[in-house]
Amino acid sequence: MRKTLYIIGLSTVVFSCTSQQNAKKRQYIPKTPSIQQKATAQTPAEKPKPKITSDHGVEFFTTNIADITKNDNTASYGSIVSAKPAGYKVVKDYFPAIAQNFRQRYLILHYTALPDDKSITVLTQQAVSAHYLVNNTGDNQIYQLVDENKRAYHAGVSAWRADKNLNDTSIGIEIVNTGYTTDASGKRIFAPFDDAQIKKVAALVKDIVNRYQIPATNILAHSDIAPTRKQDPGPLFPWKKLYDEYQIGMWYDEAQKQSYYDLATSTDFQLQYNDPTFIFNVQTQLQKFGYALDLSGKWDDATKKTIEAFQYHFRPQNYDGIMDAETFAILQALVLKYPLK
Ligand SMILES: [Zn+2]
Repeated sequence: MRKTLYIIGLSTVVFSCTSQQNAKKRQYIPKTPSIQQKATAQTPAEKPKPKITSDHGVEFFTTNIADITKNDNTASYGSIVSAKPAGYKVVKDYFPAIAQNFRQRYLILHYTALPDDKSITVLTQQAVSAHYLVNNTGDNQIYQLVDENKRAYHAGVSAWRADKNLNDTSIGIEIVNTGYTTDASGKRIFAPFDDAQIKKVAALVKDIVNRYQIPATNILAHSDIAPTRKQDPGPLFPWKKLYDEYQIGMWYDEAQKQSYYDLATSTDFQLQYNDPTFIFNVQTQLQKFGYALDLSGKWDDATKKTIEAFQYHFRPQNYDGIMDAETFAILQALVLKYPLK
């Protein structure tokens, strides 16, 4: 038996040596494609991998790349979710790129216009949602309805500065509040927010804004990004308090506002009010600040609603949609403080 095997082995060697050219030919012309695939899989071309680089010399590398195990999206590198292609291994330890950032670039605040129980039902069972729901039940809970990495349906048709459809790039927070009723004169009367609830909102916003490094110019009301459709969270939402006490969002400098106000009142503000040039200037300032608005040179419905939305946020004492001297001074002070980059 052994002898026989030896002879076969020897003849194979002899055959190999004497028929090298033929053997080579056979290697290069496989009978079927499947044979070639099999051969490749058995002898993979093992090229040396580049060295792992964990220090790119920029803070960006360690702060902007997610790791679900850290639960803060910022502590490490590596993807939260990876593909698992059949038969292959996705490796995320080697080459994280520095050229990346978060998709979460905006934070949009809403009120639900409903009490607690109905807010939950609507935001979980219907075609609208938000990432977080801040209840008004006096406990210490905040409900998460949608993962931060997924898109919630809270903004609808929306725009701010160069961006549109902000559902794609925002975190949405719904605050339980019953919204407004309309009085006999047609004026909207809004429901106040409880202090305890505002503290919850502030803590939540602060946490999100810090983790994603969302700039002050991108922390907005639903009414800011959809002024012709929306009023929430309305004029009783305490934007100034959030700015003063938590350094959240935008607010104007009083001195800058005053100098614009003095300038407006030293001229006859009312006299120029219906001059198309003045209206065009107002619309340009609103657009520069961030509102999506056509420059029509007329006090059209969209312009009035945009002014009203601006007043809800920055001059809540009077939200009649009329660009008075104070509103205009505040708008110009904000444009000066938060220029388009
Ligand atoms: Zn809303």
